[in-house]
Amino acid sequence: MPTNILNLPQYRVLRVEETNHDYHVTAEPVDVASACPHCQSDRLTSWGTREQVFKDMPMHGKRVGIYIDTKRLRCQSCGKTFSQALPVLAENRMMTERLVKWIGQQALKRTFTSLADETGLVEGTIRNIFRGYIGELEKTVHFETPKWMGINEIHIINKPRCVVSNIQNNTIVDMLHNRNKDTVEKYLFKMPNRDQVQYVAMDLWVPYRDAVSAVLPEATIVIDKFYVVRMANDAMEKARKGLRGELTIKQKRGLMHDRFVLLKRESDLNDKERLNLDSWTKNYPALGETYRLKEDFYGIYEAETPEDAMRRYEAWHRVISTEIRPYFADLIRAFTNWQPFILNYFEHPVTNAYTESLNSLIRVMNRLGRGYSFEALRTKVLFTESIHSHKQKRPRFERKREPEPVEMGYGLPDDAIGYGLPVMEKERPLRPPEAYDPHKHEKREKNYGVDISTLIRMIEAGEL
Ligand SMILES: [Zn+2]
Repeated sequence: MPTNILNLPQYRVLRVEETNHDYHVTAEPVDVASACPHCQSDRLTSWGTREQVFKDMPMHGKRVGIYIDTKRLRCQSCGKTFSQALPVLAENRMMTERLVKWIGQQALKRTFTSLADETGLVEGTIRNIFRGYIGELEKTVHFETPKWMGINEIHIINKPRCVVSNIQNNTIVDMLHNRNKDTVEKYLFKMPNRDQVQYVAMDLWVPYRDAVSAVLPEATIVIDKFYVVRMANDAMEKARKGLRGELTIKQKRGLMHDRFVLLKRESDLNDKERLNLDSWTKNYPALGETYRLKEDFYGIYEAETPEDAMRRYEAWHRVISTEIRPYFADLIRAFTNWQPFILNYFEHPVTNAYTESLNSLIRVMNRLGRGYSFEALRTKVLFTESIHSHKQKRPRFERKREPEPVEMGYGLPDDAIGYGLPVMEKERPLRPPEAYDPHKHEKREKNYGVDISTLIRMIEAGEL
């Protein structure tokens, strides 16, 4: 059934004025209240009108305002006055409900400024609507509380942020705007069934440890191998830099060029790299000793029990010379301060798959965020429908009718088939894919969060 220009059957369009940038649509509700909302009496009298302007979705590239002479009515039975009901309008926001919804969705992929410009609303209103939209999404999407939780730092939009993940499922369950103790504590405190968390893997970051100890006292804190052995590589770098004073410019360049050889595991070196390493370590014994200690530190992680690891660590610690010691000072301090949590790893190792995917995510995350607020980015990551449904983008536009069969006339060239009508896609779905419904989603299966590999793939393909 053809309908009015607004496509709102609840309203009768009385007049449309079009200017360069805007549509001014005067309309009135089709149904006028016939009963008092207070006492249901139908004895109503008119009590004046006032003109109200409601914003609507942009149309043909123009902003849309709907002008309504809202009637006030008075009930003759109970004496109360009230405004007539205005269907499909979000009256508190002075706009249509569909505009509110559209702005919420659009704000995930567009800047607030561009939406303000396109709708004629102020940026503050757009931000406000977006907050409400996030609030609604949060209510409908529930991620399972992980048994094995990861709390890590990722740089997103110029700041270190806290990313909470599910290690067993390789998923993200939340992103917090900073990594302060207070922020993490509040988050953990609000987490449903938080007693289900048995292990928490984290960076060497004291506020995480303090927050988890306070809110999840029963959970075992585990420091992933990755963060600890990385500090042995840092020691190697410090030794290399410490040597620079003794070197000529040419030698410095050479050492800079060969730094990756020093950072590589011994077992991964090829013959040429091994020769290279030998020449540096023979000529500069401090470099050689640091390399040896770096390799031996990795060796600690071959231990199979916490006790064995501790024995290996003590043996390693004993042989460090005073000359080399400063390079390993940070590592030794960390090991001392975090010892029980570092040793927990030997009983409860974090999976390599998780560590690797998290590191890939850290690498690609830099590409995200330009032009977005952290809130928008977080919402995109956590609630983007295509991540959850593993579908991409919206379905292709499909024309409504099949093209008329074309009579093949004589003398028509082959490429005239269809008279320039678009070529039909062969693989047309029978009907468009179902819209994402979080309620439905949850009934179907437990939701463990956002799959990290899917997220990485989408960021790399520029789909987020
Ligand atoms: Zn009444």
